Amino acid sequence: MNIIYKTLIDAFGKCNMYGYLKYFHEGKGVELDRKTFELSVGSAVHVGCDALWQGKDIEDAVCLAHEEYAHDLAESDMFGDVEATAAKEIQSYQLDVIEAILRIWAKRRLPILLKEFEFVQSETKTVVRMTDDLGMLAKPDAILKSRFDGRYVNWSLKTAKKYSLDKHPSALIDTGGLTEAIIAANAVGGNDLKKISGTAMEYLVVGEVADKENVIFHPGVIGWRKLNENNGQYEYAWRWTFENPDYDPFGPKSTYHNPKSRSLSAKEGWQRFRARDYPGGIKAWVEDLMEGKFTPTHQDPGVELVIAPTAYHRTEMAVTRFWKTMLYKFSRIFAMRQALNEGMVSIEEAFPMENTSCLRYGKEYRCEMWQICHEGTDPLGSGKYKRRLSSAEREAMRK
Ligand code: SF4
Repeated sequence: MNIIYKTLIDAFGKCNMYGYLKYFHEGKGVELDRKTFELSVGSAVHVGCDALWQGKDIEDAVCLAHEEYAHDLAESDMFGDVEATAAKEIQSYQLDVIEAILRIWAKRRLPILLKEFEFVQSETKTVVRMTDDLGMLAKPDAILKSRFDGRYVNWSLKTAKKYSLDKHPSALIDTGGLTEAIIAANAVGGNDLKKISGTAMEYLVVGEVADKENVIFHPGVIGWRKLNENNGQYEYAWRWTFENPDYDPFGPKSTYHNPKSRSLSAKEGWQRFRARDYPGGIKAWVEDLMEGKFTPTHQDPGVELVIAPTAYHRTEMAVTRFWKTMLYKFSRIFAMRQALNEGMVSIEEAFPMENTSCLRYGKEYRCEMWQICHEGTDPLGSGKYKRRLSSAEREAMRK
């Protein structure tokens, strides 16, 4: 049976040639022989959250997430051309970010979710049959059951680089949410879409590497401290710039007399430091951070780091339309693959190149297949690409 799933659907949504190269070329598809290191943090955080859903304690969850990160690191050359010392430093920050964000989520968000929902299952792969030879697969991050009305939601976790609510509208058309809603209905709702009330997206901010130095600015791993010379103790801060609590919206327009924001000052002795050097390490830092012990105490880091908009409720029509569209689109795609394999059509006829996607994110972030399409690079003969491994093959390699 031909199986479709989020990443494959998204690949063909971007460009037919991209979908072909990534998933069908030489039977398995190809990918650049490099992973971006941000992706590995996301996978590790997913593993940690899953462990917490399964009832493991936070120490075990951090340990499993770190193991996942180490596996990923061993499996692929994710740091590419990054110089070895710099790569080591980024890895050390990433391990701290993974630990910090899991501790923040476990303390801040999980207890609220467990009050509202019963945990049903997580990370369970399910295939729903669409036709005799086409199936849809998804692995919801978690399926939860409302304690109030007994309906289910699929809980979908995203890791994000920055604090932003702007991302949320993308949830309305997110392929992951749509496929997972169908799979949730099949797995726990007796195929009745009405039993699935929607998708609860949750964004965990994991920060990004600073442009000019190998620092990941994330309040869970970087803070500031200043020695108080009167008592020999440190004062701590989790933000360099913050809202001015005394700002008067009706006051003078002068940014000097009525500033909207305030900032720490190096002249006053504030210095950056790693949260792992805080007494008690990341664990103690995160606990005190969540309890509002650091400057600015009038702003809540939890609100900025765990973004949990109201669950998006999909209509049955939205899911049905998606289902019909996928059925039509992928019946054709698999028929074209067959025709190509039988020599009846060329690659370009079967899977046209859609050049509008080549530089979609600007010339610096060109499509992963750029070298194949536009520079004549041989996909598997150049050493730049490798045969794509399926998730089953990756899992088997780890055992
Ligand atoms: S480089 Fe352009 S044409 Fe080639 S796969 Fe990517 S988006 Fe499609």
